[in-house]
Order: sequence, then structure tokens, then C-alpha cells
Amino acid sequence: MSLTDAHCHLQDPRLEPHLEAALAACRRAGIRRWIINGTRESDWPLVAGLAERIDGAVASFGLHPWWQAERSADWLETLEAFLTARPSAGIGETGLDRWMPMYDLPDQLAVLRAHLELSRRLSRPVSLHCLKAWPELAAAVRDCPPSDRGFLLHSYAGPAEMLPGWVRAGARFSFSPAFLHPRKAHVRRMFRDIPLERLLIETDSPDMPPPAGAALLPLADSAARPLNHPLNLRLCLEALAADRCLGADALGEILEQNAERLFF
Ligand SMILES: [Zn+2]
Repeated sequence: MSLTDAHCHLQDPRLEPHLEAALAACRRAGIRRWIINGTRESDWPLVAGLAERIDGAVASFGLHPWWQAERSADWLETLEAFLTARPSAGIGETGLDRWMPMYDLPDQLAVLRAHLELSRRLSRPVSLHCLKAWPELAAAVRDCPPSDRGFLLHSYAGPAEMLPGWVRAGARFSFSPAFLHPRKAHVRRMFRDIPLERLLIETDSPDMPPPAGAALLPLADSAARPLNHPLNLRLCLEALAADRCLGADALGEILEQNAERLFF
């Protein structure tokens, strides 16, 4: 079996001391591809370097809403230069966030639209983040559609009633280890209604760890907080396989075809 982590941040310095061991453990467990999402201009070179160095890693470049306020005046030109130099790279992480303190939604929408326009012009897939701004995101995607390559709603935890609309809009949805927390049981239930051909799995590592005790290869940062890592992708596969009454191998094959269609 071969699996793709559809959304992670392997460039995060917290993972650096563990990265080689985690990737070796991933390969032993059949996880062979990683879509590494940049979040701000300063981490794009790190993402590019990892994508060159790690067999199976694919770069994605974008401005995450949490880091948009610190962007430079020529961020969009820099983003386009990173993308045109790397034809296999995707766009993201970008999106909308009304959960963060002091959010500036009009500014987030302007930045999001710039990413979506670029995705159309360069024909790249897009990875979208959204917290507490689902109607606004749906309107933005309707008014400024992403490239026909498609888009991923990463760690989708939006309202269940918006799911059919997102499916009609062509969205893909990725399931993350954080959805194994009992408080996310409603999200896990919602994932049972997503068409199989739209499902992907991701870790969002090093953030969004699974519940304590569930993590494979438990890791912690220097302050002893749990670190999510890409081996936890296996937890997503096993949970979804149980929920969809499929064998892990059979579901893994479907998920890999879905990742192939979107990113490769
Ligand atoms: Zn992320």
C-alpha cells in the first residue's frame, strides 16, 4: 500500500529533530508521499528545500490567515515565482479564519482571491483552511473559482448542512487525526456522508495531534506539548476504514487514487 499525507507542515522547526526518524517510520508503514504546505513567505524556502530533498514530498506555497499581517508588499510576485519555478507545486495553505483574535476578514478575502486567481492562471490545486467562516468561504469560491485541478478543504469541520453544496462545488475533504477526539464525534459522523472519491487523509503535523494515548510514535516539543507527526496518518486510515465498513487496504487504494488525481 502507498499513502499520501494530503496536508502537513514538515518544515515546522518543532519537527526538525524528529523528521528523519518519522519519515523512516512512515515508509515502513506505507506512507510515501507528503504535501508540505507553506504558511508564510519565510517558510517557503524551507518547503522548497524539503520537497527537493525528500523523495515523495511535494511543495505547496501559500499565506495562512494567521501570518498574512506580516506579509511583504511583493508577496504575490514571490509566490508566483516559487510556483512557476516548480511546476508540480500546489497552492496553500490559505483561507479564512474568524476564530483567530483580531481577524481582518476583508484582508483575508483579498489574499484568498489572489491565491484562487493564481491557481486558475497556473492550473494548480489549492489547499484551503477555514475556521468559523464557512459561508464566506463558499461565497469566495463561487465568485472566484479555483483552478479545474481542484481544491481541498483541509481538516473539514464545517457545518454538515453545507456538505452537499461543497460536494456540488467539486471540493475534496481531508480527515485529520484530531477528529479522533471524542469532542469531534460529530465531524467523524459527517465524514461518513462524503462521497468516497472526494476523501483524502492528512495529519496537519505538527499541529492537531490525535487524542493522548492514540498517537503512534508519541513525540513532544521542548515544552512537553504533544507533537503530531506524519506517521499518525495511519490512524486516519484505520478510523475511516472502520466508519465506512471497508478494509484498510481497499480504502487506502481509493484514497491514494484521490490524492493522485488532485496533486500529481
Ligand atoms: Zn495546515
